[in-house]
Amino acid sequence: MSYPSKHLLAIEGLEPPHIADLLDLAESYALLNRSGKTQRDLLKGRTLINLFFEDSTRTRTSFELAGKRLGADVINMSVSTSSVNKGETLLDTASTLNAMQCDLLVIRHAQSGAPALLSQKVDAAVINAGDGTHEHPTQALLDALTIRRHKGRLEGLIVAICGDIAHSRVARSNIHLLGTMGARVRIVGPPTLIPADAARLGVEVFTDMKAGLKDADVVMMLRLQRERMSGGLVPSAREFFRFYGLDAEKLALAKPDSIVMHPGPMNRGVEIDSAIADHPTRSVIGEQVEMGVACRMAVLDILARRLPRNR
Ligand code: ASP
Repeated sequence: MSYPSKHLLAIEGLEPPHIADLLDLAESYALLNRSGKTQRDLLKGRTLINLFFEDSTRTRTSFELAGKRLGADVINMSVSTSSVNKGETLLDTASTLNAMQCDLLVIRHAQSGAPALLSQKVDAAVINAGDGTHEHPTQALLDALTIRRHKGRLEGLIVAICGDIAHSRVARSNIHLLGTMGARVRIVGPPTLIPADAARLGVEVFTDMKAGLKDADVVMMLRLQRERMSGGLVPSAREFFRFYGLDAEKLALAKPDSIVMHPGPMNRGVEIDSAIADHPTRSVIGEQVEMGVACRMAVLDILARRLPRNR
């Protein structure tokens, strides 16, 4: 197994064999999960702390389940119950966690770079579960695994990532992963929601949704992240839906066997029509959640292999 680091802080910097190995291992966990079997001795005696400074349902529970399926002791800390609300700095929190001899630390933070900072201060292996607008690496892994299961490959596929690209760490991680694996990535959205550094990302940029969806193999919709917008970057939700919401008419421009993805949480009727989100053959949104657990098991497994035996 070729994984190069003690931590998983970003997809940027990983090479094709690292990603392929992680996806292969995740695929084996997907099969294990479906068989109903477990592997509870793998992380026996290890402590995993979920440290979430931002809300999460899917990601936190997914890491919790992944840790438990591998036998780790899992502790969830959310910001409302932690002393960060009482003024403790991130670094004080880090030394507290260190003293608890945590082995695997999963962190979500509103500030880009917070997981990288923590990784320099704790002994634990750190996993970025989403930092600001920077990256959300396990989301990109689960998206890639879902795509690979449906299309058999990543290379050469046309993937249209649509909507609020500028504020999306999901988009960034996906752009890095899919680009590294040889997919043709398009970003599609209003000019106000296209990141300023789009040219550097090696993607094709479309501000016309219909042109951006043409012949796509994968249509990935993103949530409109109003909490990260400083001003009125979009008109009304209705107007946004009209031009950039995924409905049957727009989806008809993509390949007939294209799949529809969304990382959740969804704003139904804003970026995606309910009928498309729940489409029995085209939507793979439920499978993304299932693959999330498998990918996180693979990441925990890989990182635990590098931990010292007895801490
Ligand atoms: N759940 C994803 C994230 O944490 C996507 C979103 O919030 O829209 O970035």
